[in-house]
Amino acid sequence: MSRPEQQSSTSANRACVDAVIVGGGIAGIWLLNLLRRKGYSVVLLESTRLGEQQTLASQGMIHGGMKYALAGRLSRASETISGMPERWADCLAGRGPVDLRGLQPLCERYHMFADASTLGQLASFFASRALRGRIRKLKQEDYPQPLATPAFNGVVYELQDFVLDTRRLLEALLEPVRQCAYQWHLSADDISARSDGVTLTLGETEVDAGHLILTAGAGNQALLDALGIDDPVMQLRPLNQVLVRHAHPYPLYAHCLTGIRRPEPRLTITSHPDGDGWIWYLGGQLATDGAMMGDGALIDHAMAELKVCLPWLKWADAEFSTLRVDRAEPAQSRGQRPDEAYASARGPCIVAWPTKLSLAPDMGDKVLALLPPPAANPLISLGIPTAELGRAPWNH
Ligand SMILES: Cc1cc2nc3c(=O)[nH]c(=O)nc-3n(C[C@H](O)[C@H](O)[C@H](O)COP(=O)(O)OP(=O)(O)OC[C@H]3O[C@@H](n4cnc5c(N)ncnc54)[C@H](O)[C@@H]3O)c2cc1C
Repeated sequence: MSRPEQQSSTSANRACVDAVIVGGGIAGIWLLNLLRRKGYSVVLLESTRLGEQQTLASQGMIHGGMKYALAGRLSRASETISGMPERWADCLAGRGPVDLRGLQPLCERYHMFADASTLGQLASFFASRALRGRIRKLKQEDYPQPLATPAFNGVVYELQDFVLDTRRLLEALLEPVRQCAYQWHLSADDISARSDGVTLTLGETEVDAGHLILTAGAGNQALLDALGIDDPVMQLRPLNQVLVRHAHPYPLYAHCLTGIRRPEPRLTITSHPDGDGWIWYLGGQLATDGAMMGDGALIDHAMAELKVCLPWLKWADAEFSTLRVDRAEPAQSRGQRPDEAYASARGPCIVAWPTKLSLAPDMGDKVLALLPPPAANPLISLGIPTAELGRAPWNH
């Protein structure tokens, strides 16, 4: 599907579709593209602007879970996600469930670095057979530019992970299905249950849908409440990310492990084009701990962390800002991170959280497994405005 599709308009303001998707982040937009490719008649409703909640705030890393193995052993979380870089690489090559040919990653290989004194036992684990093909120690001449200095006395690893520009990713997924994504905030008053599906009242149009697919991220809980569904329940895990505009002319895509005391990268760094330069976007422990800090305190902490992790770069004139955003997921015991994507059916409703951008293909498989074959309904136009794509935080 490379060209936008033609639609007919609804007759007598009543339309029939296989499914309505609620929420236009990566989950909803991935499914819109995937289900159209499979021949389903499907439309998407987005409250505000497509992607502007978690998806465009994400760091865009398509990762294979090495950062979940920093306790020195493989875990269920690191294993479930380990196949995702390859599945996304298939999509970039045009062999996957969605076609992302033409989408150029921001970086082809993510790095991990630490000063000479940190790794200890972890260094043997990284060199072990269990991790062969997933991590490779680099020679000094292959270090990324910001680490290629005699002032850095440490180790650098290359992972199989890569980084996508999430806005370009959403653009690529939307391109063939753009006119099926509408701007509408779905609320309880719009929904009536039927024995074989739901009817949605969207302005002047009534839409009969065989399935209602909830991919509204943090908005899923309100929709579950509106539908009287008390299981699953959602959890939110907060982050406070840091954006740094600075004079260093090169990007960096790397986890910093220098001095880590718990199994989480101290800094997770991605870089995003900003005029002639780059904005570095910082997550990892910094953003997890930052969720409990005031923004001013977090900026002081970020400056101090950069001076410890990358002391040879100049930070005095850097400009800092922060971004609070919650990760929305199915609730886990003790609020832990889920290991995989989630999708389950409750009558005609399917609720899904990818739980990670990287796990979108896993979520797509799970939703497809819950749907009957397409019912050959025609594609329709709803007569409400289509949704616009949002902006990434560094473009605000
Ligand atoms: C700071 C941060 C960094 C991250 N970095 C990474 C990373 O590098 N790699 C990775 O794999 N994962 C990462 N993640 C996780 C990943 O971003 C999320 O798992 C993913 O984006 C969730 O997508 P989603 O579509 O479920 O939710 P969202 O992107 O939040 O989309 C939900 C959409 O639903 C809409 N909506 C809500 N209620 C309604 C309603 N009633 N009607 C209509 N629309 C509604 C919202 O407006 C929103 O657009 C990161 C997350 C965060 C917060």
